[in-house]
Amino acid sequence: MSTIVHVVVPTPAHSSLSDPLTYASELPLPPGTLVRVPLGKREVCGVVWDAPAGEAAPMQLKHVGAVLDGLPPLSAHWRQLVGFAASYYQRSLGEVALAALPPQLRELDASQLARRLKRAAGDASAPPQAVRPELTPDQQRALEAIAAEAGPFLLFGATGSGKTEVYLRAMEALLARDPQAQGLVLVPEINLTPQLQARFVERFGADAVVPLHSGMTNPQRLRSWIAAHSGAARIVLGTRMAVFASLPRLGLVVVDEEHDPSYKQQEGARYSARDLAVYRGRLEGVKVVLGSATPSLESWQACDRGRYRCLEMPDRVGAGALPAVRVVNMNHQPRGTLFSAPLLSAIQARIARGEQSLIFLNRRGYAPVLACGSCDWRSECSHCSAFRVFHKIDRTLRCHHCGYTERVPRACPKCGNVDVAPLGRGTERLEEQLAELLADARRPDGTPVRIARMDADSTRLKGALEQQLAQVHSGEVDVLVGTQMVTKGHDFRSITLVAAVNPDSALFSSDFRAPERLFSLLMQAAGRAGRDAAHAAASEMWVQTFNPDHPLFVALKKHDFAAFAAQQLQERRQAAMPPFAFQALLRAEARTQEVAQAFLQAAADASAGLEGSGHVVVYAPVPMAVQRVANVERAQLLLESGSRPALQAFLSAWQPVLQDLRMKGLIRWAVDVDPLAV
Ligand code: ADP
Ligand code: ZN
Ligand code: ZN
Repeated sequence: MSTIVHVVVPTPAHSSLSDPLTYASELPLPPGTLVRVPLGKREVCGVVWDAPAGEAAPMQLKHVGAVLDGLPPLSAHWRQLVGFAASYYQRSLGEVALAALPPQLRELDASQLARRLKRAAGDASAPPQAVRPELTPDQQRALEAIAAEAGPFLLFGATGSGKTEVYLRAMEALLARDPQAQGLVLVPEINLTPQLQARFVERFGADAVVPLHSGMTNPQRLRSWIAAHSGAARIVLGTRMAVFASLPRLGLVVVDEEHDPSYKQQEGARYSARDLAVYRGRLEGVKVVLGSATPSLESWQACDRGRYRCLEMPDRVGAGALPAVRVVNMNHQPRGTLFSAPLLSAIQARIARGEQSLIFLNRRGYAPVLACGSCDWRSECSHCSAFRVFHKIDRTLRCHHCGYTERVPRACPKCGNVDVAPLGRGTERLEEQLAELLADARRPDGTPVRIARMDADSTRLKGALEQQLAQVHSGEVDVLVGTQMVTKGHDFRSITLVAAVNPDSALFSSDFRAPERLFSLLMQAAGRAGRDAAHAAASEMWVQTFNPDHPLFVALKKHDFAAFAAQQLQERRQAAMPPFAFQALLRAEARTQEVAQAFLQAAADASAGLEGSGHVVVYAPVPMAVQRVANVERAQLLLESGSRPALQAFLSAWQPVLQDLRMKGLIRWAVDVDPLAV
């Protein structure tokens, strides 16, 4: 007799197929089993979600195909995590569940899988006996608290305070208690995984540590995933996607640089891996350590309220001082100054001493706009409501939103004037101007200065980033110019000067999180300087600004995150913004702006009287900041509530209403819960 099983299959975002589908199975299948099932004309991979005990299947029900029984079933915890993520972030269960599995697993049949499993099995070699540093008193205290208390913990440690060593020791302690236990370590960026991976491998051995991120090939990802799922790997180290790794013996979760915006997925199910990590810890009764020198205001406030336990490590290891912060008042500089005289001479002094400088500007390309000198022509993208960026290196105008690229016109396309000039500056131009300003600078050995640039353009080719980083580490580069890419995490040893040449725009951004992000960026950047105690005394962080008295810079000068956070939280409280309120966005994309907004308005109209709606403020539809991308018009609707449960209840009640709204010209819509940019 065949019985009924409920199987979750990959379903489109908002299809009515969002619940598990019902199939017949001859064998009893435990929940979490991976199966292949017929869906329409195809056969797809699915996960058995539950099986109503022994219920007989009606004749006409389709049967489960192959059962991937070589794999142990996915655990109840894993299914709960996925179920929570789907419902909290308003996506279908099938989409989230299947996206959480490695792509290749979804395509393998049972015999292919069996071969993979055989290959993956193998004895882990004994970990090397690494030399472990003596813990600092701060590290010691943090570890004692982690051992004794329940958490979640916010490890609030200055850059270079030795947070990584705390993660390593917490993991060691876990494995000492239970050699079969597993740890999950999340990092914000693929670029940062190799470095951290090396430190974990050194401590725990190569077989114990597996990476999981989107920069890996599908076979590599499958191999890591199987190692984790089978319990062979001790530590999974990965980017946000790794929060869904199947870890049957999970015993510790670490989220490094927990404030980093890249923990928020920006398409599909827009989950926050940081928040899911905390949820997962609670679900599985496992300790969670969030680490940062500049915590998110959400986590900071959670400490204030006693929900998280804050563990402070204010000092750098080896008494290396944090760099002195020099704020240059640009109001006192000649108009149009790019590098103020004192900054320039500070850079020159570094070059002469054989030390490195890092200059950062958050804009790549040569100039953000190209403009005609005699008419109103600007390098607008014809497909987007944005300017195309001038890239001098290959003389192109490139749209950073849709990718539309053209050669730079010889003359103004509108009036024929040949005097077309770049407006503003990006990293390319900064590099060029710096080369002119430093043309006479000499290194200690008398050779000319070497300047390099590192941004998304210079690192596009595979291996380019590694190569450029190696050049910086080996001292081949004297001055490194780059976007925020260069400020994160890298353990540069001989950088003694970091400069932000033009950070002001974030102070006046319409995005209320912009100051928070700028502060953390500047603190991170400062953290790149003076990491070698020998140089620490001479290290400096330079900021050029027209607003030297802004509280952000006042706090930065003192490396005082707490003061900055207090000031920001006060503003947020007064304005009833997160973390004092909870937000969601409904975004719509359509052929025309009118349709996008009409959809949102209809959605707003249909929200009246729904569960929770009494506690939710529904704002008016507005165009998105970049309103048109690749000829698609975009608009959004903000929802706000003082109560997370009320907002969640409302969104769940609203979902079926949204699914029923049809509108001609509407391309797609999506809900973004806890959006990072509103
Ligand atoms: P963070 O992650 O807080 O920025 P790291 O963990 O990278 O700091 O530590 C900074 C440097 O200090 C690293 O080179 C690390 O090896 C070293 N370090 C960490 N803890 C100790 C310690 N207890 N004794 C000596 N050196 C340490
Ligand atoms: Zn013109
Ligand atoms: Zn474009």
